[in-house]
Amino acid sequence: MLENLATQPPDALLALIKMHAADTRTDKIDLGVGVYRTGQGDTPVFEAIKQAEQRLVDTQDSKAYLGPEGDMGFVEALMPYIFGANPTHGGRVTGMQTPGGTGAVRLAVALAKNAGAERLHLGVPSWPNHAQILNDVGIETVTFSHAREDGTADLETVLSVIDAAGPKEAVLLHGSCHNPTGIDYTADDWDAIADAIVSAGTFPIIDVAYQGLGYGMEEDAVGLRTVLAKVEEAFICYSCDKNFGMYRDRVGAFYAKAATADQLETTFSNANALARASWSMPPDHPAAAIRIILRDPEMTRVWLDELETMRERLRLVRKTLADAGTAGSVDLTPLGRQNGLFAILPVTPEHVKALREDHAIYMAGSGRINVAGLTMSNIEKFIDALAKVTG
Ligand code: PMP
Repeated sequence: MLENLATQPPDALLALIKMHAADTRTDKIDLGVGVYRTGQGDTPVFEAIKQAEQRLVDTQDSKAYLGPEGDMGFVEALMPYIFGANPTHGGRVTGMQTPGGTGAVRLAVALAKNAGAERLHLGVPSWPNHAQILNDVGIETVTFSHAREDGTADLETVLSVIDAAGPKEAVLLHGSCHNPTGIDYTADDWDAIADAIVSAGTFPIIDVAYQGLGYGMEEDAVGLRTVLAKVEEAFICYSCDKNFGMYRDRVGAFYAKAATADQLETTFSNANALARASWSMPPDHPAAAIRIILRDPEMTRVWLDELETMRERLRLVRKTLADAGTAGSVDLTPLGRQNGLFAILPVTPEHVKALREDHAIYMAGSGRINVAGLTMSNIEKFIDALAKVTG
């Protein structure tokens, strides 16, 4: 039977990691992999996580099953950070733990499909796994262009997509720090998007994978809070893998707002059934560690300080690039206004190849760079190489 399977294309980023690892040049730069790096090029475990893990080891007295909803203490402790004051919207918002943001996206899309969504609209380019998940869940995907050439979000396009879509269709939006472009909607854009969703009845799914890496925990929540304040129903997919540095531990959450408390309960009975049939229960350890942090004011302060250090470093790298103006044919100034780990450079596959072969600079074939791969000691080399290759 297995002869019926066709080999799938290898993951391009994993191939890039291997190539980078095999490169013996000492001044090589990795802009491919999507993890935060310090100015020394490391991706350390957060100090707050270390403390919480220690406490977990010391105090955990059972590893008996929880349930498909996971650690509800974790789910609820996160809610004020995501939803602000009145996080439950009077009993109309709740959530459950998922294996990473990926699990949350998968659950949200499958649930939207089961609830009757016939089509899902996705701005592109997007995180490549969005398209794979949508395809695997079996929902028809319609793409639209997310950004304009000037490096800002294409508001007119998303509004016309939402207007035309209507109640039997869903739209998937990135909450902040868009992957891969770094291009977010402004607060005014979100207002207009929320109004369009209300008047068309299109179902919003908001994917929040980088809260706190843009301008701050509160600032990065403006979009989703604006939408939630106006709409009757929405799904929110949340990842803690970046803002708690828990990548391999796989922790995230799925939240929903429903029109009534009864509908919310029904929604989660369905979400629980889907989780049971997929992963049964999410991994406990990372969510328990985050719950411990969020219930302890001192550990929370340590975590927020660490997040601020990350955010300030990302902003400094972005400012340094923007201040450089242009490098060859590439205008770097929009990167200063963009957010999070990623940016797309307007380079060709030939430029990407030349940067790799001639300058030991590794980036995705799409021109996506992880700005956290740049440090104050390699950024000049990067700008010079970019100028040489594209000039
Ligand atoms: N959504 C987006 C936009 C992402 O970029 C990512 C991953 N980087 C995810 C969801 C999934 O995150 P996780 O690693 O928590 O599964």
